[in-house]
Amino acid sequence: MPYRSVVMAALAGVGLAACTPPPPPRPDIVLFVVDALRADALPAWGYDRPSAPHLDDLAARGVVFERAFSHSSWTLPAFASLLTGRLPSEHGAVRDPADRLRFGRLDPDLPTLATLLYDAGWRTAAWVNNVFLAPEFALGRGFDTWDYEGAVGFQERSGTATVDAALAWLDAGSGPAFLLVHVMEPHLPYLASPVRGRFAGPPPAPFSLPFGDAEILDAIQGRTRVPDDAGRAWIRATYDEEVLDADRALGRLLDGLAARGRLEGTVVAFTADHGEEFWDHGGFEHGHTLYGELLHVPLVLAGPGLGAGRVAVPVQHADLFRTLLALAGVSPPPDVAGADLGASAIGPALASRPILSEDCLYGPARLAVTRGDERLILNLETRVANLFRLDEQGQSDALVPDGPELEADARPLLEAAFAVRGDLDLHAPPQRIAPLHDEAIERLRALGYLGPRTPLPSDPP
Ligand SMILES: [Zn+2]
Repeated sequence: MPYRSVVMAALAGVGLAACTPPPPPRPDIVLFVVDALRADALPAWGYDRPSAPHLDDLAARGVVFERAFSHSSWTLPAFASLLTGRLPSEHGAVRDPADRLRFGRLDPDLPTLATLLYDAGWRTAAWVNNVFLAPEFALGRGFDTWDYEGAVGFQERSGTATVDAALAWLDAGSGPAFLLVHVMEPHLPYLASPVRGRFAGPPPAPFSLPFGDAEILDAIQGRTRVPDDAGRAWIRATYDEEVLDADRALGRLLDGLAARGRLEGTVVAFTADHGEEFWDHGGFEHGHTLYGELLHVPLVLAGPGLGAGRVAVPVQHADLFRTLLALAGVSPPPDVAGADLGASAIGPALASRPILSEDCLYGPARLAVTRGDERLILNLETRVANLFRLDEQGQSDALVPDGPELEADARPLLEAAFAVRGDLDLHAPPQRIAPLHDEAIERLRALGYLGPRTPLPSDPP
């Protein structure tokens, strides 16, 4: 069934806050981030499996941003952009292009959501579960609590356990709270979850539960084995069950807030750090390209100061940074680029902005520029660019072949990217972390990172 926009409120220039009362001072703010959740895996984005009933409820009373984009396709740079409102080339939490086992640490001078809200009187805490959110990457600055648990083998802290810990923290203090909750469920290895069997039947050979068998995973990620239709469908169904499990955690959090009488006064932002590929362009998982299936993320905002509806104007994680500060009544740093999505200012002008995404965990460093129905992907090492046409959601990418159209359309996008970024150069992280210790590397391997990868013909060169 073709997916249609329901309300084009922003394109019509209608302010979201126009018909709602002003927010109460110093609301609680909850930022709920699901790892590796592509937007089109959710009913609110047209998916036909009932994978997120609690998010459906939140979306019904909040604002759904139909075309929201991450600034990267893997956890570390995407999360750092969420927390700073800056591009990866600005915040420095990226892969070292010279050594794939070295990574950048977040620039210590940049204000973050947590530092700004903490300085304004909020209690601040985060529960995070990805090894790229380990304290050594320095994303926890400004949080009273940065409660990190990286996966060990195939075992990760569950979303429900994460939420229970966060709610206990909420109960232990008073005053406005900023709570970051990150859940890992849809990330590999698609563990057997409490909802196993809802969408996936028995695994077809050669798969088995949990779908993390190292040999199969290496083969799939190395692209020496491409699953047949039955294998792909089963893998996708196990992912969808993990999405459902993540949604259970969201429901538990929202129910917990309601039981405490805090839900109505809380700004809830729901998003993902990046998406996940299921052979859309011949590959699997994330971090390896900057196509739509990895950049298009869900974004829902609900709470005081926000109305309800759907916004089709393309938005970005940097906008979320500025929006949450605006809802809190806290001034953003003067030099961040995002827009306030709760203000009447959103409208046609935002529709023509370039949205930049960059850095990859595998392969060469890349930069993507998304504007309107176009996306240009530039290899920052070879300087070769490819242009793609997007579908209505900004998700599918069709390559524009070499020719006059490419010449005519690519240059304005490159110029727009240059204007935003200041250059089109490769940025090495200014503060590098020495090669990760053995335990961290093993955790990365267990998550499917660091395995063999070979480029596909469809990958941008
Ligand atoms: Zn991630």
